[in-house]
Amino acid sequence: MTTTSTPIVRLTDLRLDRGGRSVLRGINLSVPRGSIVAVLGPSGSGKSTLLSALTGELAPASGTVEVFGQPVPQNQRELLELRKGIGVLLQGNGLLTDLTAAENVALPLRAHTKLPNPLIRRLVLMKLHAVGLSAAADAYPRELSGGMARRVALARALALDPPLMIYDEPLTGLDPIASGVVMSLVRRLNDTLGLTSIVVTHHVHETLPVADHAIVIANGGIVFSGTPAELEHSDDPLVRQFLRGEPDGPIGFDAAPRTSEAA
Ligand code: ADP
Ligand code: MG
Repeated sequence: MTTTSTPIVRLTDLRLDRGGRSVLRGINLSVPRGSIVAVLGPSGSGKSTLLSALTGELAPASGTVEVFGQPVPQNQRELLELRKGIGVLLQGNGLLTDLTAAENVALPLRAHTKLPNPLIRRLVLMKLHAVGLSAAADAYPRELSGGMARRVALARALALDPPLMIYDEPLTGLDPIASGVVMSLVRRLNDTLGLTSIVVTHHVHETLPVADHAIVIANGGIVFSGTPAELEHSDDPLVRQFLRGEPDGPIGFDAAPRTSEAA
């Protein structure tokens, strides 16, 4: 097998536990280089938990997690090395409010490289350019719209040129136009920079158009895996319930007792 055909991420019979409870089990997933995989599922289904296994934040209860062809290491030094190769855009932007956009994007470069300031500035401007925000370099987060702030966070996640990007709910709090901008940016960056992307979201309709592959997780496992077109045509009752956002059906919502849920 050549290196280019080695999946960027491979999960094999993975079980993940949290708080002494099994959140996900029987997870098998292969993410080919260059692809965008959408990980869909209702709130509380374990999407963020799955991502935490990729970054080594959560160790598998059983099964294996391989990233870049290697099992995710346990020791801290190797783990830090792995994480430099994974750009993470977490729910909420995590921008530091008393730093400008450019200073926020520079943070990973200052933390992980010894590059001189003028070079850091050049790299930062390139990243801001990549997300269409060269003009906002010296703006503070409060001066930016929600969509622009999300793009600055995206530029920061790209700062170290990670081959793998993972996005956890990148559209939370964005209006439909900003959501469209962010998702098409995810696709464009993936293709122009030669990345591989995993997008975790419950925003199905905004995400499917840019995804190559989609999985749906519900009830502790993968209930669908296929192309976006196959997902839209699935007649699996679980998948239909999720796509339509219906509260009643085969997906049990564990966040609150269903009888007390207003809608
Ligand atoms: P999603 O991202 O799909 O909304 P999560 O992965 O955050 O779901 O959570 C999946 C399940 O794991 C939920 O039932 C949640 O309550 C539980 N969980 C998440 N984080 C923890 C934790 N640190 N300790 C215990 N349980 C957790
Ligand atoms: Mg989550």
